[in-house]
Amino acid sequence: MTHASQLLSALNVPASQTTGGSLQVRSPIDGAQIGAVHEATKQEVDAAIARAHEAFLAWRNVPAPKRGELVRLFGMHLRQNKAELARLVSIEAGKITSEGEGEVQEMIDICDFAVGLSRQLYGLTIASERPGHRMMEQWHPIGVVGIISAFNFPVAVWAWNAALALVCGNSVVWKPSEKTPLTALATQALFERALAEFSQQQGMAAPALSHVVNGKAPVGEALVDHPSVALVSATGSTRMGRAVGPRVAQRFGRCLLELGGNNAIIVAPTADLDLATRGILFGAYGTAGQRCTTTRRVIAHASIHDELVSRLERARKQLRIGNPLENGTLVGPLIDKGAFDAMQKALRGAREQGGKVTGGDRALEAQMPQAWYAEPALAQMPAQSGVVLEETFAPILYVLKYEKLDDAIALQNAVPQGLSSAIFTNDVREAEAFMAASGSDCGIANVNIGTSGAEIGGAFGGEKETGGGRESGSDAWKAYMRRTTNTVNYSSALPLAQGVKFDV
Ligand code: NAD
Repeated sequence: MTHASQLLSALNVPASQTTGGSLQVRSPIDGAQIGAVHEATKQEVDAAIARAHEAFLAWRNVPAPKRGELVRLFGMHLRQNKAELARLVSIEAGKITSEGEGEVQEMIDICDFAVGLSRQLYGLTIASERPGHRMMEQWHPIGVVGIISAFNFPVAVWAWNAALALVCGNSVVWKPSEKTPLTALATQALFERALAEFSQQQGMAAPALSHVVNGKAPVGEALVDHPSVALVSATGSTRMGRAVGPRVAQRFGRCLLELGGNNAIIVAPTADLDLATRGILFGAYGTAGQRCTTTRRVIAHASIHDELVSRLERARKQLRIGNPLENGTLVGPLIDKGAFDAMQKALRGAREQGGKVTGGDRALEAQMPQAWYAEPALAQMPAQSGVVLEETFAPILYVLKYEKLDDAIALQNAVPQGLSSAIFTNDVREAEAFMAASGSDCGIANVNIGTSGAEIGGAFGGEKETGGGRESGSDAWKAYMRRTTNTVNYSSALPLAQGVKFDV
């Protein structure tokens, strides 16, 4: 079934990197082992950071548009190897084929964005209060960027960070999820090809701009604690962010946190229920509920609640669960047994809280006994409490009822997480109220589309326990640079600011 080794070899990953190590890699599709990767020691992490730092010292002086050329070349390699890398994503993370391809497309898109950005890293000029003075700001490279990523976007999250970090003049050290190290090694191999081409083109030795250090949390901790890692960009659970944030703050490093979500869709009385049903279905059950932006809650107006639930139930039962590499499959496996157990625990909790639960049983156990497939679940809840307040990384959709929009918005906001949110309505007042200051408190607030599947052009991230970071588009690049304010005196006097006198 799985041909990970052939794909890895097609993607130029030496077999020595993916065999013989202590970190076993399994495909969630059938539970088969597909690799055994070396786990980096602390000394190896330190050495990677030292090499990245040395590369940064030279890279920061390369003109930004030239840095963009490297990212352009990397984007070309991604285009040429899209099918292979996407299939490896499907095999290692269990995504259906179109989502694996979508993940690599996202990498290509962010490369394109970063290439343009490499000519747009601009600061402001600011009016000075002093005569004969000019004030401006510049954005400079920040240093080594440590990237810690989650299993569910095994390569795109790195690309969001790395493409921007590199054009901004930084180097990167990547600690991928211990569940998905193979796609990381494949991505690094593609990047090294682009780097070799770039160096040849520029007539220079290839700078060691990108490193992968594989392993579990301690490998991440070595990155987090290292004083030469200027920015730690960490994507994963809120539990991880709670551990990482204070450690980085302790040494006054910078942190960009992209953590868990508990995303809701409000469905208003005027909503187009066809659109809403489709948006909710993909949001809740796509990627088997394993997206940070997965729709976990629907808050439906009492007037359309029953109709919406019956449409969702009909559609839910038609979703084809199966091998994600097969045409027609819409729901692939959960990443592992731990994820399945967490799903069952949440469903038990929902029942105990008076919820009416459908679906949620194990699927395909006979065909794939070592893999963990689950029927998507729907739980009609009497109230928003207990399990509904938590992010369970599985296809469970909680449905709640509301009467007044203010109450729906209050419910939507009354969870600890603040990543993505949406409203389906054809009432412009409701749509605007939802997006206003007193509306959704999330980093993403959509109208008539679902909570998941963001485009790279916007800034991506969320508030509260989601961590507050922003990645990808808009001005998210500023997180990867340091700002200097420069005041230049071109007069022959030396006036002090605020009119202070200090003459002898
Ligand atoms: P996880 O928190 O278990 O692991 C994420 C990464 O953090 C892994 O590389 C892991 O090894 C590392 N890690 C864990 N503890 C650490 C520590 N103490 N110090 C340093 N590194 C540590 O998350 P996961 O199960 O891989 O992914 C699912 C979670 O990620 C969900 O909560 C999901 O919402 C979140 N996520 C968020 C976003 C976003 O952009 N907001 C995107 C994808 C996933």
